[in-house]
Amino acid sequence: MAENAGQNNDAAVEARDGEDTEIRDTDIVFDCPHCGKSQVIDYRGAGLQIDCTQCGETVLVPIPEGMELNDLDLDPGEILKQLFATRRNFQKAELQIAALKARLVQLQETLGVMQEVVAEGIAGR
Ligand SMILES: [Zn+2]
Repeated sequence: MAENAGQNNDAAVEARDGEDTEIRDTDIVFDCPHCGKSQVIDYRGAGLQIDCTQCGETVLVPIPEGMELNDLDLDPGEILKQLFATRRNFQKAELQIAALKARLVQLQETLGVMQEVVAEGIAGR
């Protein structure tokens, strides 16, 4: 990062092949909507149109959730902080989903037991 300090890095951002490229923490990874090929692009490419490395179609780079285009005008350190925070939140959300799914299974089991009790109650009348 230090070597880029103070420099306006407006160089064209190009997609790389998602399968044989090293992916950095700050990269955006997505699949080409035309051919499904995995694309990797620097976070500065968010919201830009690029050419797919496989089929050459123009594809729109998705903007990571929680990231605003205006954020691209922030200094890189700030953007990275936001990106990492977004990822942490995403991981937390995934853990919550897993916990909720487990709870749902429990509730469905309880419901099953209750339905049996009700059925027995009706049958016993
Ligand atoms: Zn493609």
